[in-house]
Amino acid sequence: MPTEEDDSPSPLVGNPVCPQYDNNKRGLLIIDIQNDFISGSLATPNANDVIIPTNMLRNKGVFDDITLSMDSHPKDHVSFGSTHGHPMINDNMNDWGTEYKWSDPNGIEQTQMLWPDHCVWKSDGWNNPDSLELGANDHWVFKGTDVLRDSYSAFFDNDQTSETKLHAHLQSKGIKDLIIVGLVFDVCVKFTALDAIKKGYRVYIASDATVAFGDWDKAADELKEEGVRMGTVQKYLSNPAGSFNCPETNADSFGELHCKVLLMVRFVC
Ligand SMILES: [Zn+2]
Repeated sequence: MPTEEDDSPSPLVGNPVCPQYDNNKRGLLIIDIQNDFISGSLATPNANDVIIPTNMLRNKGVFDDITLSMDSHPKDHVSFGSTHGHPMINDNMNDWGTEYKWSDPNGIEQTQMLWPDHCVWKSDGWNNPDSLELGANDHWVFKGTDVLRDSYSAFFDNDQTSETKLHAHLQSKGIKDLIIVGLVFDVCVKFTALDAIKKGYRVYIASDATVAFGDWDKAADELKEEGVRMGTVQKYLSNPAGSFNCPETNADSFGELHCKVLLMVRFVC
């Protein structure tokens, strides 16, 4: 499993010089950790490995919000091979993600990636695995609920015309930084992270809490180009030197004086 990371400090550390100045709100965004993506019809190898690190992050107790997205399709969803007379896609992993052109009810040609039937609302495959820890205050976002639209991102449908309630929810909690984990890296995690950047969040992906269906490196390059920061759960749970809120603030070079100045002027990085 890739464990690449960049040199940005952990978003969980806060401000080691000015702990009282740490007013940054952090969210954990858990993408599509559902049975069908782990052991069901659309299982990616090693997908089960993301659960323990995801639980470790949650249990750090440093998040102001934990939101889970759930791929939630009606039967006959547009992304199912069987909907378009291609049920064989269910049996052959090489056919997953096949591009298919079809005419929608308005006669407009659409291009759709076809996948095995998966995550049908309230089915066993739709559920979270028992080993994924959940909390009483968790927030939930359901995507892909429109029979005619697919939705890889937890923010928008793929055609970007309709938006979930995720951004409004995160804004209501004052979240500025997001750590994204879950399934799978090069599809739903990637598109969620790219939309989060567009929405103005600082975005981190824990590379050891996600796995790729296809080309990891291609997706990672695309994400880094757009400003997504890559780290690991171990790094996010450690306490590296430096400050997240004020990267130029460093205990060795500035120390308490800088902290007092910051507090006096209420400077925001
Ligand atoms: Zn889906």
